[in-house]
Amino acid sequence: MPAHSCTPVRPDERRAPAASSSGADSQAPLILVYHRVAEPGVDNQLLCVSPANFDAQLAVLARTRRPVPLMELLDEARSGRLVPGSVAVTFDDGYADNYLNALPLLEKHSIPATVFVTTGRVGTAEGFWGDILEDIFLTGRPLPPRLEIPQWERSWPLTTAEERLRAHDEIRYELKIRLPHDGFPEMVSWLQKTLGMPGGHVSPNPVLDQDELCRLAASPLITIGSHGISHCRLSLLDDAAQAREVAESIEWLEARLHRPVECFAYPYGTPDCYSEELRRLLREREIAGIANVQASLCLPLPLQDVPRRLVRNWDGPAFAAWLDADDAGRDALERKTVSRRAPDILRGLSRRLPRLAQKADGSPMRVTHITTLVGQGGAAKSTQRLIAAQRARGYDSRAMVGLVPPPGHDACRFDPQEDPELAEACRREGLLYYAFQGSHRLHAHPLVQDADLLHFQNLHGGFFNPFSLSGLSALKPCVWTLRDMQSITGACAHSFACERWKEGCGDCPDLGIYPGLPVDSTARLWRDKKLVYEHSRLHIVTPSEWLAQKVRQSILGMHPVTTITNATDTDVFRPRDRAEARARLGLPQDAVVLGAVAHGGPLENAWKGGAYTVAALEALRAACPDLVFANVGCRDDAPVRPGVVNIPHTGDEDLLATIYSALDLFIYTSLADTCPLVVIEALSCGLPAVSFATGGVPELVRHGTDGLITPYKDVDALVQAASHLLERPGLRARMSRAAREGALARFRLDHLAAKYEAVYAEAVREAAGKARRCPPFPPHAVPEVIRTPAFLELEKLKH
Ligand SMILES: [Zn+2]
Repeated sequence: MPAHSCTPVRPDERRAPAASSSGADSQAPLILVYHRVAEPGVDNQLLCVSPANFDAQLAVLARTRRPVPLMELLDEARSGRLVPGSVAVTFDDGYADNYLNALPLLEKHSIPATVFVTTGRVGTAEGFWGDILEDIFLTGRPLPPRLEIPQWERSWPLTTAEERLRAHDEIRYELKIRLPHDGFPEMVSWLQKTLGMPGGHVSPNPVLDQDELCRLAASPLITIGSHGISHCRLSLLDDAAQAREVAESIEWLEARLHRPVECFAYPYGTPDCYSEELRRLLREREIAGIANVQASLCLPLPLQDVPRRLVRNWDGPAFAAWLDADDAGRDALERKTVSRRAPDILRGLSRRLPRLAQKADGSPMRVTHITTLVGQGGAAKSTQRLIAAQRARGYDSRAMVGLVPPPGHDACRFDPQEDPELAEACRREGLLYYAFQGSHRLHAHPLVQDADLLHFQNLHGGFFNPFSLSGLSALKPCVWTLRDMQSITGACAHSFACERWKEGCGDCPDLGIYPGLPVDSTARLWRDKKLVYEHSRLHIVTPSEWLAQKVRQSILGMHPVTTITNATDTDVFRPRDRAEARARLGLPQDAVVLGAVAHGGPLENAWKGGAYTVAALEALRAACPDLVFANVGCRDDAPVRPGVVNIPHTGDEDLLATIYSALDLFIYTSLADTCPLVVIEALSCGLPAVSFATGGVPELVRHGTDGLITPYKDVDALVQAASHLLERPGLRARMSRAAREGALARFRLDHLAAKYEAVYAEAVREAAGKARRCPPFPPHAVPEVIRTPAFLELEKLKH
């Protein structure tokens, strides 16, 4: 092999290895690999060393080691002679900072280095796709709440820092294993387009251009090697393409630098990334093949499998300690450094994520929730939890209610102002809530006037005129969380098997369903709702995909819909000791205890399918006579039944968590549900559930993972599923762990607030952009009964 072109320091001038070395192994010759020398911003792969730390590391090398050019070290190895303490510095990829930041420091310490250049990237603005992915996902730029890659049949939520890091890591991994070189640019531009980013992306980490490359190569300290053309996993390519990567990248470099290129660093560098064929190609041309196997050098050294060790962003003392360790000690320090990657990224990313809680002037964002907050059902509880989570996040989040709030709530009440002259006619004709005037006048209320966003919750509690929605949504960004189907049907909160809401209602099969009608006004109510929605600007949130799909097929379908699952306090609803829980509740320690929780009691509440639970219990008792059922949430005067323990409704969540923890199985036969909190709470306490496939329940109970889902109203299947689990304590224990883990990943309150933040951002942006308008009603389209002075005043504000 020819003598290498740049040998700035003669061997005899170099210092001998330090006498104080910590053992033979730590003095074994070493090839170091760096990538970037710059101030690390987001450095997800930990490949960036700051100039200050690089300076300190070079000082350690100059003081304690024998720095030599890579090719000289390899020549020595070839001749069977390794000098202890020898170190060669190398760089991979070909970043501009190698020239701008690293070279001056190498010159300062007179330390030679070899730079492996990816020729196909030289002078490109987009640089390396890994850096672009990092820039897309990890820098906190505004992104839509979800990314779907249909060709991979995968999708990722993108709201929280954790979700973005997961998406980044998984997509990066997929790209690395799936795509040979040509696919990257298209994939990255597709991602940018899909995520609503401007195309023609410029890498945050610039690569060398030709001029910089030539200037870098002109330094007597620098040797240039090849890192291939495309920086793909070469083992993915066929033999001919591999040969091209080697031959053409070397020719390209030699033509520009006018000197031979004698070494090639495999992209990624682990043995699975280069093939036997590639080794053979290099051997034939007498080119050294440099890998990324984390080891020091020893003889004999196979010249197409030369190992290197990655250097991290360590300061001088940490680097010296790493250098002085043996290979096992260096591995341990490396692991410790890498283990900080995810927490560091998450901390940085959480700081950078768009936060709506504070406005540009530093004042908190004001959100006014318009709702009922009454009743002990899940909807009111969910709203209260969201408000608490938002306050914890820095929002000025408050509730304004049209009905008297329960004691202990600081909600502000507005007067629904039912017009007495209209009230009787509206009741007679089934014109639900058309007589209320108070909601038309909300625009003048201070809590609406100073709000940055209005968040409608349950509007059908009997206080809100449906026509108010249009005018209010013209004034403020508006988000509306639906808890049931009432907004998309003529009247009913749940249509069960009826699908007439898709086409216009009328001929209603069941006028008795809540909220109930005296006459069949459903067609007219449906038409009026449609008219209102066509003249409103709303962002719809549903707690389940089941409801979201219905909304998309409905009169609300023209508005964007986001699914945000309900959440619970997973710290309160956590598994408790079962024996203690049973002792506290006076439940038998050895019996099989099933249970359910519902307002009014699961056995008595018709919507919760009480009759089906009763039938299932009878069948289960045939095999297990001692079985006990906890009827939780029942009224104080609930009937006494054998084998049933009545536990009246409690607002004490600690007690409720104790109850869930005392049970063996949650039995849920609800007939209409969107996203029941009681199921979420049960799972969060590690209680597996058996349930009918009702509404959004199968999205909560993952069949086979944390419970079993059986067909709607099929008691036999439910009994079979329950028996299956009761006979298998091991399976139940596994499901219990899975339920808890799933709850922590899916139902946390801080996630809920973060997910709403993404929807708020969209609503605020859209209201500011005026892309989607909120047009005035055509003069004669609005029914006479609606055209009151209060309505007309609100309507006037649109102009
Ligand atoms: Zn590389």
